[in-house]
Amino acid sequence: MISHVTPQHAARSGEVILDVTGLKVSFDSPDGTVHAVNGVSFSLRAGESLGVVGESGSGKSVTMMALVALLPSPPASVDAGTAILTDGETELDLLSASRSQIRKVRGSKVGFVFQDPLSALNPTMRVGDQITESVRKHRGVSGEAAEQIAIELLGAVGIADPERRYRSFPHEFSGGMRQRVMIAIAMAGDPPIVIFDEPTTALDVTVQAQIVELVKTRLQQERGTAIVWITHDLAVVAGIADRVAVMYGGTIVESGPIDEIYENPQHPYTRGLLAAIPSADSDGTTRLASIEGSPPDLLVAPDFCPFQPRCSYAFDRCVDERPLLRGVAADHLVACHYDLDKGEPVQ
Ligand code: SF4
Repeated sequence: MISHVTPQHAARSGEVILDVTGLKVSFDSPDGTVHAVNGVSFSLRAGESLGVVGESGSGKSVTMMALVALLPSPPASVDAGTAILTDGETELDLLSASRSQIRKVRGSKVGFVFQDPLSALNPTMRVGDQITESVRKHRGVSGEAAEQIAIELLGAVGIADPERRYRSFPHEFSGGMRQRVMIAIAMAGDPPIVIFDEPTTALDVTVQAQIVELVKTRLQQERGTAIVWITHDLAVVAGIADRVAVMYGGTIVESGPIDEIYENPQHPYTRGLLAAIPSADSDGTTRLASIEGSPPDLLVAPDFCPFQPRCSYAFDRCVDERPLLRGVAADHLVACHYDLDKGEPVQ
């Protein structure tokens, strides 16, 4: 029997399917221009999991929402950049695509799972019907066949007794179950990329771990879906990501394989984030490190290092010149004028 929950993605594992270069996004505000995203570049390979980490206002969600035109415009405007989405045969620049092209991309090429499933789901519609609607839209099947696929998807995301729960309304589900429904809706469209925007922030740690496991096994491993996992929590990323991009002040300040970033962080901000993670063998009496100071003022034009006011390594050049990403190891990039290993400015 052909499983309706197992997809066929055109791109081969490891091929770049999304290549973002020089993305800039700003917002008009009564106080002036908010420089939210300031030249972000990254790529995503088929079947991999990329964690995007940063504090509130770092630009991580704005970056991802800009890719599928989910930002209200105005006040948002995409000022520069390209974002090439490819399946190995055709290419589309998401940032210059028409509205109708973007509508087709959403759900079928790029899925989105938000932090708050209650506001993403229609409260007046049964959850099964919401999944069926997505199946009909993206798979071209209707009637009982679409409903059957929706029931299979509910079962695949771990909802017990899916035939009965198909007829439930969102308010009858717990937060974790609603997030499972959102994942089923994303699976219905069978996109090669799913972006998760802080999907487990509102959930307790046990349910959080279950959702991470579900995404890893059902989406990434079984279906070969590429995952982008946005979070403020570097510890959560360790459980899901193959690679991580650390964002600060609207820019990527460090990126690389997750083990490399954990073992050899090269940006002062990343080191600060790692020092703030509680250790598993902590006895609970050790005081965790925190990063002193406030996030950067995004109303100021971004022509210096955004971390400079909070950085204990800062020197003259950090105020005069914005650091660009430079390679420090295989697939490991950092944007900093200071070489932490050598203990001296980069020449
Ligand atoms: Fe600190 Fe300068 Fe590096 Fe910025 S560029 S993180 S201010 S040392």
